[in-house]
Amino acid sequence: MKRLLFIFTLLFIGLASQANEIIVSGVTTENIWQKLGTREQKLNIVGAKLLNANKINKRVVFNVNSSTSVNAFAAYSNKTVSVNKGTFNYIDNDDELAAILAHEIAHTIDYYGGFGKAITMTFNSKSYEHKADLLAIDYMVNAGYNPIAMITVMNKIGGESVWDWGIFWSHPKTSSRLMKDYEYIYVKYPKYLTSDMTKNINYVNWTYTAQKDINKFEQKEKAKAAKRGNL
Ligand SMILES: [Zn+2]
Repeated sequence: MKRLLFIFTLLFIGLASQANEIIVSGVTTENIWQKLGTREQKLNIVGAKLLNANKINKRVVFNVNSSTSVNAFAAYSNKTVSVNKGTFNYIDNDDELAAILAHEIAHTIDYYGGFGKAITMTFNSKSYEHKADLLAIDYMVNAGYNPIAMITVMNKIGGESVWDWGIFWSHPKTSSRLMKDYEYIYVKYPKYLTSDMTKNINYVNWTYTAQKDINKFEQKEKAKAAKRGNL
């Protein structure tokens, strides 16, 4: 009888530890969607919102790749927007993710122009970077995102290169991109310049670095407006 009890005890411990293992892994059919792929889920929700709000009639798909460096890119070969896993550590909200995705969507739409277009883009990449930024701002606003996030996220992740000349430098300096983004928002979507997001520490930091250019631009715009008023 004692031996039988011993065997039962062993069996019970065995079953209990087995059950315990299942609980430890934590994934059930009920919670699997919450447990896995949070980044992927966000990517697809924000991506689809941008595509639908802008009625984009070309297929664009989104994925997260396993690289831990900070980057995102659009692939000509399969019209896929790919965001490095490492980039997510620097994204603080949906608006910032939308800024990154909207920029890559703009490139992808250009890629639909065919191989010739892709070559043109390679040799004029700086102007296409500016173009993608401005189109991205339109996409963001149309989908209900705050375009100031383009500045907050790029001020965090876009390093400042020494040069931006020639065909060997594919991207303009981040400071020049951000200034053009600001000018576009100022003219086309001024209400966002008084939105709460302008209190974001990364936006405030950018305004310090761009103060001279901002002043120069705003003076020019005010002079233009005054002239218009006089006519
Ligand atoms: Zn780009």
